[in-house]
Amino acid sequence: MLSTIIYRSHISDDVLIKTLGALAEKANQVNESNSVTGILLFNGTHFFQVLEGPEEAVLAIYQAICQDPRHHNLVELMRDYAPARRFGNVGMELFDLRQYDPDNVLQAVLDKGTSKYQLTYDDRALQFLRMFVEATERENYFEIPSGDSWEFIVDKEETPPRAAIQPATDQYSFAFQPIIDPLSRQIVSVEAMMRPGSGVSVADYFAELPRNEMYEIDLKSKQHVFAMAKQLGIEGLTLSINLLPMSLAIVPNAVDFLLQAIHSNGLVPEQIVVEVTENGALSRVDEFEAAIKKLKASGISLAIDSFGAGSAGLVLLTQFQPDKIKIDRNIIADVHRSGPKQAIVQAILKFCSSLQITVIAEGVNKPEEWMWLESAGVCNFQGALFAPSTLNAFPAVAWPEKLEVW
Ligand code: CA
Repeated sequence: MLSTIIYRSHISDDVLIKTLGALAEKANQVNESNSVTGILLFNGTHFFQVLEGPEEAVLAIYQAICQDPRHHNLVELMRDYAPARRFGNVGMELFDLRQYDPDNVLQAVLDKGTSKYQLTYDDRALQFLRMFVEATERENYFEIPSGDSWEFIVDKEETPPRAAIQPATDQYSFAFQPIIDPLSRQIVSVEAMMRPGSGVSVADYFAELPRNEMYEIDLKSKQHVFAMAKQLGIEGLTLSINLLPMSLAIVPNAVDFLLQAIHSNGLVPEQIVVEVTENGALSRVDEFEAAIKKLKASGISLAIDSFGAGSAGLVLLTQFQPDKIKIDRNIIADVHRSGPKQAIVQAILKFCSSLQITVIAEGVNKPEEWMWLESAGVCNFQGALFAPSTLNAFPAVAWPEKLEVW
């Protein structure tokens, strides 16, 4: 099957531009023997390459390209299949856009094409090519330094190590993980996550319970969170708790129960954030909305958890707007290398800015993910890069420190 991969990257500082032609020629021999064709554009700082050919060969060559130290900040823009090659000529010459008149450069690139239709039909690959040549998305090319330009350091004075406390119950307990603003060195909130004692996932634990008990247990478990927060000495922080949307909708007086548990542990509703996932929220939308109204009226904030992973996402958002949105970890993973993920995160940031919703990136594990997200405008982060979720304890935060490079 004929497959296409398109990527964009930034030339490394130590590469001499005049040597590029020879490098491209060498790469071409490999391409040719694998029947991979395409086009390689260069604009003085960035490369843009279309690779076309048999799927396995394209993938193997692309993987080698990803490892090449002569460029960095590589972002995969498109991976797709096509009925025919757009650039089928043997040999993938380096096309330096700067050598052409800006008015004619796009046509000059397209003249290299071998497909019959060029831009007549809406071919995504050719639209990407046009976007690069015309530099219409250039403000979104974030150049992030390498991951080792930051160190992540626990400040032992700021967060003295604390011993773990007793589990909440025999059946389950809670792990705690901070949500932080790394650049202002602030803990924004602490999320409490249920951990079944048997070691199974929360979803599996709930699945084993009778349906009517499941929501009840989910809700009632939260009083343990507040008690544990107090024991851990973190009751002064904002606490994020997870609830199934239906626990709020189905359990009678769910919000009253929460408020009672909050007050009895010396907390106030304004410091509590309820995280709900999109899943299931729409099946009993009237009850859910009634509970949300009550929650908001009491001072408790609302966050949509794992945003983007569920089925309700945007429809739910048209019906009510939360205070916070947590972008799902699958969208965050390797966001610095993925054009589709970057486009989605930027769209989320845009509508959240219009709606005054705070955005949190969850599951941040790599410095590059964090740096890209900061460049895009995300300020709040959660993930093992800064602090792992820790059972029955509050973990220390490893704050980023820029390494001085001489
Ligand atoms: Ca959560």
